[in-house]
Amino acid sequence: MWYTETLYPDIRLQLKGKLLYRKKTLYQDLRIYRTQRFGNTLVLDGATQATEGDEFIYHEMITHPVMLLSPNPQKVLVIGGGDGGVIREVVKYRTVKEVYLVEIDRDVINISKKYLKTICKNSFRDKRVKIVIDDGAKFLRQTREKFDVVIIDSPDPVGCAKVLFSKKFYQDIFSVLKKNGLMIRQAGSTILQKEELRENWRILKKIFPHLWLHLIAVPTYIGGLFTLIVGSKKIDLFNISINLLEKRLRTLKIKTNYYNPYIHIGSAILPEYVKKILK
Ligand code: SAM
Repeated sequence: MWYTETLYPDIRLQLKGKLLYRKKTLYQDLRIYRTQRFGNTLVLDGATQATEGDEFIYHEMITHPVMLLSPNPQKVLVIGGGDGGVIREVVKYRTVKEVYLVEIDRDVINISKKYLKTICKNSFRDKRVKIVIDDGAKFLRQTREKFDVVIIDSPDPVGCAKVLFSKKFYQDIFSVLKKNGLMIRQAGSTILQKEELRENWRILKKIFPHLWLHLIAVPTYIGGLFTLIVGSKKIDLFNISINLLEKRLRTLKIKTNYYNPYIHIGSAILPEYVKKILK
């Protein structure tokens, strides 16, 4: 049996493996495949979300580049993230007092606890984690909380995730961020999702004083270099020294398999074709 990703009409990713679980939830078609090469894989509406084999790249790089820049990250908001990978990385910070996980689909959390234990580990049981089953855009409109860091770990702009890509959504994020606040979101492939990247960049440029990209390559996210956009109210990555990042990483005793301060800075240096997309 093969798992075939159907995110694009004209390009396919296929992984040899078998279907372990399938459910039409209130919001999406949820599947878990056990693939030979990458282990258990979460698929939502035909798009690869996370595999046990390469999730560490994405989950570390959507978390540490903003958590380590924040001078004292105590309150964190994760929108989406139902597989538990992002909160696993966030709870490594002993400065964190509360992390809100706002996930629209309870089934994703329940199934991840069962089939993706290597991804979520014990993060859902961490007493600092507050799980809110809700639409992230709606939560932002209603919350009175203020956050040091907001991490948007959403799927591509399809179905219930569409609202997580609007100007209003980003303005609401800006308003719930504290004065040193930082936001990060995945903004798709530099090759296959140029328009999505350009549009997100264009909107965010008008809202955040500081904006930059990190480039990562995740084998099961097809389309070569994949982008993470960071919006910052005050802190500018290019005014931060590598020594400061190294000192924070050491002091906090954060262990990683992908992230390090050199990759932090280096992943923000862009190839010419990416600069052209952002112009
Ligand atoms: N790493 C993946 C990626 O980059 O595409 C994202 C994985 S994570 C599992 C995506 C989560 O976002 C899913 O659990 C989905 O249910 C959730 N989600 C989608 N739309 C949402 C919304 N409007 N509010 C909150 N969570 C949402």
